[in-house]
Amino acid sequence: MIVDYHIHTYLCGHAKGKPIEYVKEAERKGISEIGFSDHIMVDKWRPEYAMKVTQIEDYIRLVENVEKESSIPVKLGAEVDYFLGKEEEIRRVVEEFSFDYVIGSVHFLDDWVIDDPRYIRGYYERDINEVYLQYFSLVEKMASSRLFDIVGHLDLVKKFGFRPTVDIMPKITAVLEKIKINRLCVEINTSGLEKPAREVYPGERILNICWCMGIPVTLGSDSHKPWEVGRHFDKALDLMKKVGYKEIATFTKRNQVLKKL
Ligand SMILES: [Zn+2]
Ligand SMILES: [Zn+2]
Repeated sequence: MIVDYHIHTYLCGHAKGKPIEYVKEAERKGISEIGFSDHIMVDKWRPEYAMKVTQIEDYIRLVENVEKESSIPVKLGAEVDYFLGKEEEIRRVVEEFSFDYVIGSVHFLDDWVIDDPRYIRGYYERDINEVYLQYFSLVEKMASSRLFDIVGHLDLVKKFGFRPTVDIMPKITAVLEKIKINRLCVEINTSGLEKPAREVYPGERILNICWCMGIPVTLGSDSHKPWEVGRHFDKALDLMKKVGYKEIATFTKRNQVLKKL
């Protein structure tokens, strides 16, 4: 079983192509099941980052229509930004619609977008260790919020290759403990391989701890173009097996089922 659970649509304002083209690419690459997980933001919304909450019904129709044309199952997911203090707004959105899974992601530290290359200078203007600690503190709160099923790109803060100068593994271990207690699953997101970080999110060291703690993993390409579906999955699968994983997490109506790789 191979899934690609992190796929965007043009509704987020920065993805290209039609949803059916993403499905065809998945079929061509032998992926067993895919899920769309377009960006939803309940705060700080900007047209180039996410669909509006009022567009969610259009999004659901889009995914339902493409599922009819697909030979593989197409799940309805969402990638929802976590904002501290906005938990109730997020809860309303994720409970109102019948998603198969909800990915929780942190892209913002206060008003700074950490993964937008236009704002990369933010890494030069701040203390890098503080940036890492602040980022993982938010991921920790996100994991404890019980709003999400999957942690999206767990160590996204490494995207542009800025690394901490102190050991932050104790902090990450604390985050993973929250992920474990709240029964979340961690996404192995292959988009990082094409970024200066040159690694999947999260990297091997973190994945090893995930495995030791019994945290399940799933797989996503973070596709914003049809040909990105399933990108570098050969490398991700090799890594999963090397770490020890024999199963992958799948979701239906927010119930997690582990399937053999
Ligand atoms: Zn994201
Ligand atoms: Zn995106």
